Amino acid sequence: MSGGVEVKPLPHIPGSELSGVVERIGTHVTSIKEGDRAIVYSRVFDGTCDMCLNQSEMLCRNGGIIGVITNGGFAEYISVPERNVFKIPDEMDWDLAASTSISILTAFHALKEASLKVNDCLIVFGASGNTGIMAL
Ligand SMILES: [Zn+2]
Repeated sequence: MSGGVEVKPLPHIPGSELSGVVERIGTHVTSIKEGDRAIVYSRVFDGTCDMCLNQSEMLCRNGGIIGVITNGGFAEYISVPERNVFKIPDEMDWDLAASTSISILTAFHALKEASLKVNDCLIVFGASGNTGIMAL
């Protein structure tokens, strides 16, 4: 345990913000092909628990984060489920792509939870970090 979060395996390769080129696909993969530029949604989720079925897979009771409960993006290669991989446009910068899974989706989730309406006022604390910038 490290700070209340179980990290495995050990020794551990971290990295939860991933982008890269698909090197190889499984025999049943249809949504992405070898050579595609892609990002990895870093949440591991089972799709069957009450949180997943309530469209809150980021809170999956049996899940976690790639790079925390599994080895992560600092590895030379990583194997992830097809549902976690999304093709990105050729013109998308690698750094922006890598930060999408955590910074953009965290900001999106926070803004969605805030249920803002037109003309509501929002203060973004920490708007100089990547999540704050994405919220802006
Ligand atoms: Zn779940």
